[in-house]
Amino acid sequence: MGRLSFLTRLFGGGGGRGAQSPDGGIYIRVRCNACGEVIQTRVNPSSELSALDEGEGEGYFVRKVLVGQKCFRPVEVRLRYSDLHGREVSREVLGGTSVE
Ligand SMILES: [Zn+2]
Repeated sequence: MGRLSFLTRLFGGGGGRGAQSPDGGIYIRVRCNACGEVIQTRVNPSSELSALDEGEGEGYFVRKVLVGQKCFRPVEVRLRYSDLHGREVSREVLGGTSVE
């Protein structure tokens, strides 16, 4: 992973969801299935990602439980990344839907 590809991704040249923002965080937005509220969270890849266990493949994951202001139902987000720069490979949202 060279410096050039990192910059390309940083400035949006690579596009795609889950791209790392300039402050180093990955912003995730989901819509609660129960009330429709959009809830945003931030993943800090340098401190929040955990390596996958052996047998689960290569990469990193993070699990977040988001609770909005309207109905207090938890929306669980499970994210997988191929590296610590926030290159997302899969996203599961329980109790809500992903908002691009
Ligand atoms: Zn809700």
